[in-house]
Amino acid sequence: MANKRKIFNKKKILNFNKKGPGAVWLLFILLAISIAYLFLYNSTNRQIESINYTNLLSLINTDKIKSITVQEERVQGILKNGKLFECIVIPSEKLWNLIENKNITIQVIPTERQGWGSLLFFSLLPLLLIFLWLSYMRQSQSGSGGAGKIFSVGKSKAKFFSPNTINVSFKDVAGVQEAKEDLKDIIDFLKNPAKFKRLGAKIPKGLLLTGAPGNGKTLLAKAVAGEASCPFFSISGSDFVEVFVGVGASRVRDLFAQAKKNSPCIVFIDEIDAVGRQRGIGLGGGNDEREQTLNQLLAEMDGFSTEHGTVIVLAATNRPDVLDKALLRPGRFDRIIEVPYPDLYSRLKILEVHSKNVKLDPNVDLEKIARGTPGFSGADLENLINEATLVASKADKANVEINDFETARDKIMLGAERKTLGLSAKDKKVTAYHESGHTLLNLLLPNTDPFHKVSIIPRGRSLGVSWSLPEKDKFSESRTEMLSKIMVLQGGLLAEKLKFNDQTSGAANDIEVATNIARKMVTRLGMSDLGPITFDETKEHPYLGRDIQAKPRHSEYTAKLVDEAVNKIIQDCYNKAESLLLENKDKLELLAQKLIEEETLQAKQVYELLNIEPRTSHAWKEEK
Ligand code: ADP
Ligand code: ZN
Repeated sequence: MANKRKIFNKKKILNFNKKGPGAVWLLFILLAISIAYLFLYNSTNRQIESINYTNLLSLINTDKIKSITVQEERVQGILKNGKLFECIVIPSEKLWNLIENKNITIQVIPTERQGWGSLLFFSLLPLLLIFLWLSYMRQSQSGSGGAGKIFSVGKSKAKFFSPNTINVSFKDVAGVQEAKEDLKDIIDFLKNPAKFKRLGAKIPKGLLLTGAPGNGKTLLAKAVAGEASCPFFSISGSDFVEVFVGVGASRVRDLFAQAKKNSPCIVFIDEIDAVGRQRGIGLGGGNDEREQTLNQLLAEMDGFSTEHGTVIVLAATNRPDVLDKALLRPGRFDRIIEVPYPDLYSRLKILEVHSKNVKLDPNVDLEKIARGTPGFSGADLENLINEATLVASKADKANVEINDFETARDKIMLGAERKTLGLSAKDKKVTAYHESGHTLLNLLLPNTDPFHKVSIIPRGRSLGVSWSLPEKDKFSESRTEMLSKIMVLQGGLLAEKLKFNDQTSGAANDIEVATNIARKMVTRLGMSDLGPITFDETKEHPYLGRDIQAKPRHSEYTAKLVDEAVNKIIQDCYNKAESLLLENKDKLELLAQKLIEEETLQAKQVYELLNIEPRTSHAWKEEK
């Protein structure tokens, strides 16, 4: 169970599934071609008047013609008044004599060349137009279309880095210790595949890096290649997805063909959710092109065995929740590596890495800056240093001073819309008490899942989290377990009230989850005074996988009884949880203060701090 304190006004992501944009584009192209044809014909034929042979003879005789161009039986000419004409003639000695006598300039064009030229030109025109159109699209899409790019529609757009061009290693990635630890095996394997293969070790093919943007997923992936000094292919999931059906799949094929040629190597797919979204959901049918691309990706990952070359696929996303489950099966992306927002220590390290080449005033205390920037991502911190350096440069200072950092921080935070960026000291404090409330009740109550760790580093949409991990897969839950769960959920809100005599919107999700548990206890599990009766209020939605409200089968009177029973469970829990927290107010203080300092605490640290004997069910395993 993870009690997340949610940020409230999350943005809803609208997902319109457009069907067949390809057809629209095709129409567009055809239209462009026809317009171009019309335009070309018009421009050459506009002022040319077609005349007959008789008229031509009379024009010659009346001396109106200035010059003519002859090509077989086609004569084009200019009149002395500037008008253009064209005529089909019977080529004869008599005609040429007549023209010569009138002093008209004659130009003869050899037949073959012009014929071929125009033939070629007009038959290739549509192709040419399609080509131009494509190249235009590429450029407008990628923003960096090189001249050669239009020839590679079905080729992967992956960027290729040979080992000697990769200048990133693990020392450039600050913090993220756990992720680095997890990736070490991969590096060993890439360096010396034979050693592992000899004993038949199974090495993962795919690893999924999850976490909010700017926290170094790309950097980590590249650093793995750097450490193993192997080639690195980098592509974004959105690069696979094109308007033309089949292009994405062929790009995937091409990418893996190239990768195999260069093995051992790393393929990095950023934003894998662009192709890896769950298939076949969404109204109006799936997106065929994307599904084909995803299927090809899955086929490639199943296809390459480690004997034929070693290709490790690292993928990144900040929406692991939307990924197709098929992607996460064994043999595909079966290892998930979290790349969280940096904690205090990591922020300090990141600041150190990026200020290596910056002249800092001796009074600049990077640790203090790290303390003042909870919720900043690695990229935000890098940006902070750049901004501060800019501010100092503008003022012609010799060094970057502490107030330059403050100016920069204000500038970034004012400009930033991201909710998690830059938690205020107050937010941080409230979150610390809130999470401590959850944690403490988790520890004090019986029948709770073993506590794992607590953190006030924002991740995704939640500001903090208090983790507990079930010891074993649970197939049923007892009444006391459920009541404890409700109390743990109420702990966040209660701690806020106890400390600040106020409460925040951050507890909304806790309240919702707790209410749902209580309601389920009453309406389906027979765990209230109403007895073992099903009050059929909800049923699982077949597609959305969650409960929807169905028409109640029972009377309004019964509905009232249900509500009262739910209320009673919630209230009883609330009172009990409140007095338990009150009794342990000193522990709450201790824990919250430590959490503000450290930002993340492992179970072991918490037990030591609070001097609580881990219950048998609270057995923690030694952390790395
Ligand atoms: P993501 O792929 O997770 O969106 P990136 O790897 O693109 O993030 O990070 C963007 C930039 O932020 C990196 O190029 C790097 O300069 C900086 N950065 C992020 N995390 C770290 C870190 N842990 N250590 C050093 N620099 C970092
Ligand atoms: Zn909470």
